[in-house]
Amino acid sequence: MLNKQEILDYLTVEDPQELFSRADKVRKEEVGDDVYLRGLIEFSNHCRRQCGYCGIRAGNHDIVRYRMTIPEIIACAREAKSKDYSTVVIQGGEDMAATADWMAEIIESIKAETGMAITLSLGERDLEEIKLWRKAGADRYLLRFETGNQKLYETIHPSLPGKKSDRFEVLSQLRELGYEVGSGVLIGIPGQTYDSLAEDIVRFGEIDLDMIGVGPYIPHPDTPLFTLPKAESGQVPNSVEMACRVVALARLVCPKSNIPSTTALATLEGVSGRLQGLSCGANVLMPNFTPAKYRQLYEIYPAKAVLSEAQTDLTEWLESIGRHRGKGRGDSPNRLLRG
Ligand code: SAM
Repeated sequence: MLNKQEILDYLTVEDPQELFSRADKVRKEEVGDDVYLRGLIEFSNHCRRQCGYCGIRAGNHDIVRYRMTIPEIIACAREAKSKDYSTVVIQGGEDMAATADWMAEIIESIKAETGMAITLSLGERDLEEIKLWRKAGADRYLLRFETGNQKLYETIHPSLPGKKSDRFEVLSQLRELGYEVGSGVLIGIPGQTYDSLAEDIVRFGEIDLDMIGVGPYIPHPDTPLFTLPKAESGQVPNSVEMACRVVALARLVCPKSNIPSTTALATLEGVSGRLQGLSCGANVLMPNFTPAKYRQLYEIYPAKAVLSEAQTDLTEWLESIGRHRGKGRGDSPNRLLRG
């Protein structure tokens, strides 16, 4: 396991090539050449939160809000199934009109009809809700802690009135309930230092994450973070290269976890960004199955890239880069090891 100083050295070394090669080797040894595809369904852009970085924050009145209907969500899952996907990721803002029972009905229906693994990414919901969804058949949950630096976190992710936001607490509840647990951070948030990012990466190992999703912070002009000052010294850049360093370090710290090459990488550098992620430790892609009319409204940052199955033959593309499309559910080897 790398210690904090070794992580810091890798974050700041001039040429990261040795890090990338090392992470790619570990990826091959620990999780192989398979790349698992997850069908992403962005079901709602309603959100009760005021995250300073996010375009769908409650305070942004310049976007049109939507919430897909249950039949629409199930139709997306059906489409993913017809394309041989074995996992769907249901993601959205913290939308309280998506009640626990409503979501449980969706989970049960998708499970009964398709048998696919179901990943939820619904923000900080109550223990009773995540319990119900686990019972209904949800397998995995993604909740980035964004930054472990408490002061910075409070600035970018205000708590709800009377309820302190504690994503680490939710992550440990998810683990208790038997979910495959995924988390991660934003890279290059104004005010984020190398030191704090290195601590976050150490934390990935301490929590023993089953899935790790990281990506560069992409400024959105209609959010408060757009004008937040950078750290006076040691500011982490929000570049693809820095995000790839973090992907690589995540692979070294949690060798058996599932790590996606995220949409934000592709947004900044297209196919090349996606490929860079896969070349330095990632083993998952998340093509988007959200209907086009909603997809453009899920604007967490400007000009979000969309990896659509319809646009690219991913099976062929993966073969062309020496990788293979993974078959089956692609459960996290880290979670399987834990038993
Ligand atoms: N509401 C859920 C939550 O907060 O976990 C899921 C949806 S949220 C939009 C998913 C992720 O989008 C967040 O964890 C955050 O890291 C990322 N995100 C939001 N705004 C972003 C931005 N401006 N640049 C890069 N990533 C962003």
